Amino acid sequence: MVVTLRKTLAAAALAACLLMPMSPSWAAPPAPPKGAPPMTSAPKPSDPKPSTVKNPALLGRVSDEELPQTEAEWRKRLTDQQYRVTRQKATDRAFTGEYTDTETAGTYRCICCGEPLFRSDEKFHSGCGWPSFTAPIDGVKGTTIAELEDRSHFMIRTEVTCRRCGSHLGHVFNDGPPPTGLRYCINSSSITLDAKPPAKKP
Ligand SMILES: [Zn+2]
Repeated sequence: MVVTLRKTLAAAALAACLLMPMSPSWAAPPAPPKGAPPMTSAPKPSDPKPSTVKNPALLGRVSDEELPQTEAEWRKRLTDQQYRVTRQKATDRAFTGEYTDTETAGTYRCICCGEPLFRSDEKFHSGCGWPSFTAPIDGVKGTTIAELEDRSHFMIRTEVTCRRCGSHLGHVFNDGPPPTGLRYCINSSSITLDAKPPAKKP
């Protein structure tokens, strides 16, 4: 019974979170996780514009004074894909995002303002092709994430945004695992991972 229900939910999840025809390929290799803070890591050859992007949110929470005031400023600060997703509500292609399968412990912050949004402790493998969390960093009834009704693409969904800067993050669905029963389906392009330091040896 439970297994059947979970299968049904999984199927519903898959159907609900897709915005475009999805390649069933699990063979697409996930991008390597960001293991170290960007300030200390060398630019990767695969990065589209590694040397031209100056985004202070990669380093930590951006102060109110440092936040862009215009779309032009956001464009300068973000990669093209990050801009399309966070400021224009686009969606990363399924199974292509940097953090879809990442299991590295740490905190996921907003790629636009650096606000901590999700923790690795609430991340789970949903199989839907995007990073999934059961709750935001400050809980389901917290104030970090804002929810908005989204009627685009002939569906009624609940969009989730960073409450602080308004950046589009993804959607939340009622088909997640316990304890919340929620699945926060988040675009990798909307977040950046601060990896936790390695645990101390006993
Ligand atoms: Zn933000």
